[in-house]
Amino acid sequence: MSHKTFNDMLSAIDQIIKNHIIPLEPLLLTHQWNALYPKLDQIREQVKAQGLWAPNLPESVGGMSLSMVQLGQISEATGQSPLGHYCFGCQAPDAGNAELLHLYANDFIKQQFLLPLAKGDLRSCFAMTEPHTAGSNPTLLDTTAELIDDHWVINGRKWFTTAADGARFTIVMAVTDPEAPKHARASMIIVPLDNPGYKNLRNISVMGQEGSGYYSHSEVEFTDCKVPANHLIGERGQGFKMAQQRLGPGRIQHCMRWIGIAKRCFELMCQHVNQRKITPSASLADQAIIQAKIAESFAAMNASRCLVLETAKIIDEQGFAAAKHHISMIKFECANMLQSVMDNTLQTMGALGMTDDTIVSFFYREERAARIYDGPDEVHKISLAKSLLKRHL
Ligand SMILES: Cc1cc2nc3c(=O)[nH]c(=O)nc-3n(C[C@H](O)[C@H](O)[C@H](O)COP(=O)(O)OP(=O)(O)OC[C@H]3O[C@@H](n4cnc5c(N)ncnc54)[C@H](O)[C@@H]3O)c2cc1C
Repeated sequence: MSHKTFNDMLSAIDQIIKNHIIPLEPLLLTHQWNALYPKLDQIREQVKAQGLWAPNLPESVGGMSLSMVQLGQISEATGQSPLGHYCFGCQAPDAGNAELLHLYANDFIKQQFLLPLAKGDLRSCFAMTEPHTAGSNPTLLDTTAELIDDHWVINGRKWFTTAADGARFTIVMAVTDPEAPKHARASMIIVPLDNPGYKNLRNISVMGQEGSGYYSHSEVEFTDCKVPANHLIGERGQGFKMAQQRLGPGRIQHCMRWIGIAKRCFELMCQHVNQRKITPSASLADQAIIQAKIAESFAAMNASRCLVLETAKIIDEQGFAAAKHHISMIKFECANMLQSVMDNTLQTMGALGMTDDTIVSFFYREERAARIYDGPDEVHKISLAKSLLKRHL
């Protein structure tokens, strides 16, 4: 089905989220994985039939070839449910992996891995962070890949490999050139996960939840894990350069997804305070202290949206390099906005906010990590401040 205008497309997405996806959330909240995944597959088919699949990808691989500004707005709409991005085929880490493979992979990798990934026939993961080295400075990572007899032999341990459970391949970041300058030591290599040298050690319990399948984070190990030399992505030693490329669009998508989450929490907060009586004649909504939370949350959400869309516009018109400051700004600004809006919502809901009877506690538990992954707040603030200070030397 085609959509006459971009706004028609956005409202079609909103309808699917509200009418078909949000009603499935109780299955997620009660961990009924076997019932949930087939239903999500049905919605994915419906999304494809409506021409709304993979908004982040170019048309040449089955996507929609949208601008960053458009992609951002779709990310907000799909972000309203934790099931949204998955149903529209633009979920991290698959989205970033597919974008990366589209830009850098050889023809063999494109055929074997990118095309089925882009169609949603299989899932992938991205293994960079290690438990024993600081992820904030990935030049310290010590997983190795040696080229022996036309094969990469990989050894190392990774963790927080999101969605490794059930994924068919991972992109692993490993040191291939230990003597090179620090930003040219690592490369990205594809490892199919049925490889005997790969082991998923556990789904890590995150604030009490191990999750399952796509909704999980694993600790994984590579022991003399051999893959053919043509599994290298792009050039040898270009791992960090490609990682930056992968994170650029990813941050727009994350930030706008967070605005979608904040919007959903905000709506739940407003509904709750309107109906919750604290005296026979007054509701929570009548209290000035609650009204302040509503006004502040709304202002923060709208300020974040303006900043992200401005960033997306700079990327569309001038490219990623021109948006460097903006990308750092939105990463910490939106993550903190999200935390504050989620916390206001949970607080105004009282004990109900702590339960899994609403989606708020899921968001609160899962999205605390927004201030940590893809670069913690501190790293983005340091990088932005250093660059700004140089202007005033
Ligand atoms: C839910 C979730 C999903 C993730 N998914 C993936 C994934 O799919 N693949 C993957 O490879 N990784 C993933 N990660 C890992 C993530 O990228 C790292 O956690 C992140 O890079 C930070 O690294 P670290 O945890 O080792 O923290 P560290 O580097 O040890 O830093 C710890 C803390 O120190 C502070 N800090 C760091 N540097 C500085 C500094 N220079 N100055 C001052 N303070 C500083 C920050 O507060 C930071 O949070 C995920 C993490 C989470 C929580």
